Amino acid sequence: MKSGVCPKCQASRILANISLKDPFHGAVDSQVAVNSTPGTVFFPGMVTSKIRAWVCEGCGYAEFYVAEPAKLGKAIDRAMASSKRPHDPRQDPHRLK
Ligand SMILES: [Zn+2]
Repeated sequence: MKSGVCPKCQASRILANISLKDPFHGAVDSQVAVNSTPGTVFFPGMVTSKIRAWVCEGCGYAEFYVAEPAKLGKAIDRAMASSKRPHDPRQDPHRLK
């Protein structure tokens, strides 16, 4: 689709980089979100990226792409690293004094 040809009908008029709007939050582009700090309750490290559509004008077929996929990948790596961290009893707020 990004090559400029529709894979369904082979039309060559592709509408690129169309933003997705939620009808209830029309001013905000639709996004995907990853929590990079899954153990954190109050200030989770949400990392977001906009979703964009490539639309075939001939048949309406649409493909969706995340604008910044590497940013989400790094957030997932951080989440995985923090969940693998060994338990440190000195950092445990419930430990006995
Ligand atoms: Zn098409």
